[in-house]
Amino acid sequence: MGTRQKITLILSGLFLVFFISMIIIVSLSFRNFGIESAQKRAMLTAEVVKSGLTSHMVNGIMDKRLYFLNHIENIENISALWVARAPTVIKQYGEGFNNEIARDKIDKKVLASGKTEQEIIETAVKSTIRMTIPYKASSFGDTNCMSCHDAKEGEVLGAISMVIDISDIRGSSFTTVGYTALLALLIMAAVLLVVNKFLKPYINIFYSIRDVMMAAYSGNYSKRVDGGELEESKSVANMLNSLLEKLQKVFDEIDKKVYIFVQNKNKEVSHDPLVNINDTIDKLSEIYKFKQTIEHDEKLEDIYDRLAYVFKTKFKLSDFTIIEADALSGIKKVVYSVNGCHCDLADGECRADRINSIVDSTIFDETCSKFHKPNLEYLCLPFSISNELNLIISVVTQDKEESLRVRKLAGLIEDYIATARPAIVSKKLMQILNKMARVDQLTGMFNRKYLDEFAETAIPQALRSNIPYGVLMIDIDFFKMINDTYGHDVGDEAIRVVSRVIKESIRSSDIAVRFGGEEFIVLLHNCDKAYIKEVAEKIRTNFAKQKISAGSETFSKTLSVGAVMFPDDSDSIWKCIKYADISLYHAKEHGRNQVVCFDQSLIKDEKMKTSF
Ligand code: GH3
Ligand code: MG
Ligand code: MG
Repeated sequence: MGTRQKITLILSGLFLVFFISMIIIVSLSFRNFGIESAQKRAMLTAEVVKSGLTSHMVNGIMDKRLYFLNHIENIENISALWVARAPTVIKQYGEGFNNEIARDKIDKKVLASGKTEQEIIETAVKSTIRMTIPYKASSFGDTNCMSCHDAKEGEVLGAISMVIDISDIRGSSFTTVGYTALLALLIMAAVLLVVNKFLKPYINIFYSIRDVMMAAYSGNYSKRVDGGELEESKSVANMLNSLLEKLQKVFDEIDKKVYIFVQNKNKEVSHDPLVNINDTIDKLSEIYKFKQTIEHDEKLEDIYDRLAYVFKTKFKLSDFTIIEADALSGIKKVVYSVNGCHCDLADGECRADRINSIVDSTIFDETCSKFHKPNLEYLCLPFSISNELNLIISVVTQDKEESLRVRKLAGLIEDYIATARPAIVSKKLMQILNKMARVDQLTGMFNRKYLDEFAETAIPQALRSNIPYGVLMIDIDFFKMINDTYGHDVGDEAIRVVSRVIKESIRSSDIAVRFGGEEFIVLLHNCDKAYIKEVAEKIRTNFAKQKISAGSETFSKTLSVGAVMFPDDSDSIWKCIKYADISLYHAKEHGRNQVVCFDQSLIKDEKMKTSF
């Protein structure tokens, strides 16, 4: 119910109470007035009748009193009038006429008690008052009653009863109440009209303020208060409107400024700028904390771990893979994965990377041929980190609904990647520099520096984990002759050819090192003696088949290999390398172009045996 209706209802209620009270008071007043005037009239009539009867008695015409009494009864509003003789008078003068006998209990009671009795009779159509007044004997005053009556002073001689009609008073009371009610109703209507008219502008501005505030509460600051015509409400409306305008302007500006820092394209926009600003500041603060943390991370892996932590805890991603895509070589490398990569990246093909756009399995089934879990959904998001490096975040979900949720997070994921981008670029650069310092420029193989580090870090770990390594030392036979015959450049080409053959013959988990000149060391990860021999033979035979170009002509060369098992032959990697050298020497000694597996018998010098 509106305020206006409430006020109208309250006022109407008050008026009704006032109106009913007034009717009751007026009605009661009229009733009392009617009774009182009837009483006075009865007393007066009683006095007149008493005087009249006394006059009849004094003048000796008592027998003519009936005319007098009938005349009195005919007076207006007197419905009935009779006189009742007391027993002493009956005794002295007889019962008298019919209307001089006590008619009812009231007459008898008044004759006995000498006290006036009264009874009001009200019916739906008529109101009457019955009064019975006693006449008492008195020797005082103008007439001495005792001169005619055998009575004592104060003795009741008779009573006069009258029934007086007071219906006319009730009728005029109803008319008065009717007029009063009509007047009250008119006043009530007029008051309500005036009150409504007076209150209307205030109630209107109140409603307008309420609507505007409700809109502002739900984020819409564009609504304005309608001040109406009244000067006071206009000024209130103006004040509120200018405040709202100021708020709207400030919120809009903050909103725009804050979004510059967040590239959140898929952000869920609320209608309330305050909610948006708060939300954005929250995100900014989170991203800032993330940025500060990764700035102090030492390695690129730490940054990827940190990103993964955010994806897991903040975005609730339970299955995802972070893939590095080398833009130049096309090689894809998994740098982080929760449940292992579900894609086949062996040939370097990644749809998201190639088309540089989101690949979403919920939009088109089997969009990417490289994903091999048909019962799962995937969403692959590509991000450019530098000219050389792209990152692909491949998120795997159980159903379309979850995929849709992740898609909405794409903007936020991009914010985090963008924040991490400078750190990733610099760490990647460091990684490249570090790698370059450990890679041989001519062959692209690792150099001795790398071997030193590997021997220091990975080998003790392999020893602890019981992971064996096969150690191969490879040397081109009569290499000097190439230099001497065709020149140094052709010699370099031969070195490149042998390095390619080695790379093609080993697995990605194996390590190939250019040890010096045309000497190479290969560490074969987790292998047995049979495998080491097999790989060594493969390298030897493949190289022998190679045609090395020297200007217009080509030639072929052979190589020799010394093979050792770590830690079977020795639990020192450097000792194994020395044994590989001994084995290689043995191969050279015994005709070259062969693989010699190490055996203690190869060590001829007993001193040498013990020195190791
Ligand atoms: P062997 O069968 O006994 O191994 O005979 P070899 O001629 O290969 O002898 P050795 O291994 O001692 O020859 C090494 C030569 O390799 C000496 C050096 O001039 C040459 N050399 C070393 N580094 C390079 C290089 O980077 N490029 C070229 N072209 N030659 C190199
Ligand atoms: Mg050689
Ligand atoms: Mg050599």
